[in-house]
Amino acid sequence: MSNQKFDTERLHAGYDPADHQYASSVPIYESAAFGFGDAARANGILGGTVSGYSYTRNGNPTTAVLEKRIAALEGGVDAVAVGSGMAAITYTILNVAEGGGRILAPTNIYGASLDEFRTLFPKFGIQFDFYDDVNDLDEVKKRLHPDTKAIYVESVANPSTEITDIEALAKIAHENGIPLIVDNTFPTPYLLQPFKFGADIDVYSSTKGINGHGNVISGLVVDHGQFDWANGKFPQFTEPEFTLGDEESGKQVSFVDKFGKGAFAARIQTKYVRLFGGLLGPFEAYLVLLGLETISERLEKEVANATAVAKYLAANPHVKRVYYSSIEPNNSLLPKYFPKGIGAILAFEASGSEKEVANILDNVELFSYLPNVGDAKSLIVNPTRTTHREIPSAIRAKHALNNQVIRLSIGLEDAADLIADLDQAITKAFNK
Ligand SMILES: *Cc1c(COP(=O)(O)O)cnc(C)c1O
Repeated sequence: MSNQKFDTERLHAGYDPADHQYASSVPIYESAAFGFGDAARANGILGGTVSGYSYTRNGNPTTAVLEKRIAALEGGVDAVAVGSGMAAITYTILNVAEGGGRILAPTNIYGASLDEFRTLFPKFGIQFDFYDDVNDLDEVKKRLHPDTKAIYVESVANPSTEITDIEALAKIAHENGIPLIVDNTFPTPYLLQPFKFGADIDVYSSTKGINGHGNVISGLVVDHGQFDWANGKFPQFTEPEFTLGDEESGKQVSFVDKFGKGAFAARIQTKYVRLFGGLLGPFEAYLVLLGLETISERLEKEVANATAVAKYLAANPHVKRVYYSSIEPNNSLLPKYFPKGIGAILAFEASGSEKEVANILDNVELFSYLPNVGDAKSLIVNPTRTTHREIPSAIRAKHALNNQVIRLSIGLEDAADLIADLDQAITKAFNK
């Protein structure tokens, strides 16, 4: 099954119908526990020598299809599906830096991530070094410390759509014996596969474009399987793990011993998901699998629609600036990272004051005013008052994010209707 193309794998990877009554749609295994059958099989499942399931907190057959499918789509070795994008990010950070250490991250990241990194992780002994321009490589090099455990970035910034130079950052990370972690939520694996540019771990809010229908909260951690966790900086992967060893013989085993290149995802599954909880439930996994089946067609049309909307906005006299790097003529990172386009999300700065912004929000009819992106339906939001409240105003100001900025997530409607809706809302807003 390996080496199939993206459009084939999004429908088939990780699922063998012969194991599931030849069901054409991945069955929902809505069961808390799974029978051991007999004592020998119980020993085998819990000892890891027989594949099977015991308890859904530790693993579920429906969720496992999603995990295998996303790993295949990304060119990774393994993946873990959890209850939200924030859970995926949290477990990833803890897994790489638990026990203390530093992480380097730009300030242009998702609001809840920035808030967690600034205010919560330090209470767990994990400190963050922040820098402002994601692609300022000199700044990155300057801020690495001997105990820096990872560089963490987002592939496309929200809402500016600024593109991150993943290859350059991966090179610096690897020269320093640390991994590059990429939140690739905005582009989805259809538009960008960070592993191709050297990223080591991808995290997703699959709530967004991967599922694409705005009906489930979910997160994914995907493991490239190329990073050397035994390089001396990450003892949690090389020290004996009680649950992997054999009590009777006294044999001790580490995550690297047992899982080799797949140690990162295996450790999240074995330690964080099993002990902290939060595995994505089978029904939610089913919905994400269903959404994923049409990811290519959705993203292709959403990019075309978003491009048409961005061009309309760029020509509107009440729009000061459009943030959509797909239409920037001289963006050198665009052809390298985003030949199929930057995605469904864009933003614009309206002229006038916050009053006109409120008028636009109050007058749109087709766009839904809510805090989400990547839905099949088009969405609108004023970030500084809603989604980006978690970001201190001083940091927002550094990224040109003021109260006149409006973010759009473009769906699958007819582009002409979306443009007509924005046009009537903007016209009304400025005639009041
Ligand atoms: C939404 C989002 C998250 C958080 O995901 P949840 O599923 O809401 O927990 C993280 N990163 C980015 C870029 C997001 O857009």
